[in-house]
Amino acid sequence: MLRYLLARFRLSQRAICEESAGRGLGDDFHDYPDTADGQPWHLVDLTCRHCGKTFRI
Ligand SMILES: [Zn+2]
Repeated sequence: MLRYLLARFRLSQRAICEESAGRGLGDDFHDYPDTADGQPWHLVDLTCRHCGKTFRI
């Protein structure tokens, strides 16, 4: 629960990655600053530069 809140409010990068693991593309705590290029592309697959998970925003 604490980790969920940390991820929800982007207080912990590790919580974001851990809470996002196992979630679907559209149900994910990652956001575009987590990508290598940091561009806010929508409707394309983005990859987290920390954990490598694919997500969309
Ligand atoms: Zn991640």
